[in-house]
Amino acid sequence: MPPGEFELIDRYFRPLDRPGGRRRTDVLLGIGDDAAVLRVPPGQDLVAAIDTLVSGRHFLPDTDPRSIGHRALAVNLSDLAAMGATPAWGLLALTLPAVDEAFLREFAAGFAQLAACHQFALVGGDTTAGPLTVSVQVLGFVPQGQALRRDGGSPGDLVFVSGTPGDAAAGLLLERGAEGGVVAPPEQAAAAQTLRQRFLFPTPRVALGEALRDLASACIDVSDGLAGDAGKLAAMSGCGLRLEADSLPLSAELLQVFGRERAVQLALTGGDDYELCFSLPAARLAELSGAAASGDCAVRCIGVLEAEPGTRLVQAGQPLSLETAGYDHFSPRG
Ligand code: ADP
Ligand code: MG
Repeated sequence: MPPGEFELIDRYFRPLDRPGGRRRTDVLLGIGDDAAVLRVPPGQDLVAAIDTLVSGRHFLPDTDPRSIGHRALAVNLSDLAAMGATPAWGLLALTLPAVDEAFLREFAAGFAQLAACHQFALVGGDTTAGPLTVSVQVLGFVPQGQALRRDGGSPGDLVFVSGTPGDAAAGLLLERGAEGGVVAPPEQAAAAQTLRQRFLFPTPRVALGEALRDLASACIDVSDGLAGDAGKLAAMSGCGLRLEADSLPLSAELLQVFGRERAVQLALTGGDDYELCFSLPAARLAELSGAAASGDCAVRCIGVLEAEPGTRLVQAGQPLSLETAGYDHFSPRG
């Protein structure tokens, strides 16, 4: 007889309320009751986010379940990182076509491994039957009044991005392979594998977000393409934006497999990077290297906020046009 819902929750999800085997003292009641009881430390603001991954839309149907578990949490931790928040707890709503223990074991392992890195406790959830869909809601905190926001930038602030944008979009094309994607020649197998991993196992920039709390004027995480997301930060800050394509931090792997021109387009329009894009008052530039070091992540200046609305992309002093706009689920293309 296949295990029942309660047995499955017990086996695969209850252990996740002790990240890395350690119980959080701020979880007064975790998985098992009707709801979790959590204690927010005094002097902190609670920060909440939720993101859903749908099979066939956010991941390919035959994706490694370990990657699905990792990404479901990573995309949410990235939202907390963009707010400068420290992750604490979360809830998981899982819709599964059928009880598949091999899937659940790998999914939970991918989730647990990333959760342990951030002492993130799963404190509840919901399990239902239906088309494969994963929703994770995350909660975290920031010292009162210190959350990073999208709307704090001013004209003249420098615009930065972390990591190497474009890799994840390249990785997705390589994952698709002959089915609408890209097949790399054998001599590029190692670079292609690195890019695939960047799509399958993105690193949320939590430590960088924390380090930027007191420094960045505005911040957003890059999920839908750098140009579009940086443009959102600028617009919400009541500014426009100038981006220098020549300043983009492109990875050696992206350049090797896709060439410079395509790499620039992928870095500006590809989704799924989960890097941070932030603005910084020029007067505080000297403080950034310390923040990047404690965030354990390289950052690069790619442009500047300007008073004139709109986004101006520049390459070698000339205007650059984009092949596609950022991802929008409800656009005719999406
Ligand atoms: P209820 O019917 O009261 O909503 P459930 O039977 O759905 O309760 O869940 C029992 C307990 O298991 C609850 O504490 C719930 O939060 C937890 N739970 C259910 N599904 C999951 C899941 N996928 N991940 C983590 N916890 C879960
Ligand atoms: Mg109940």
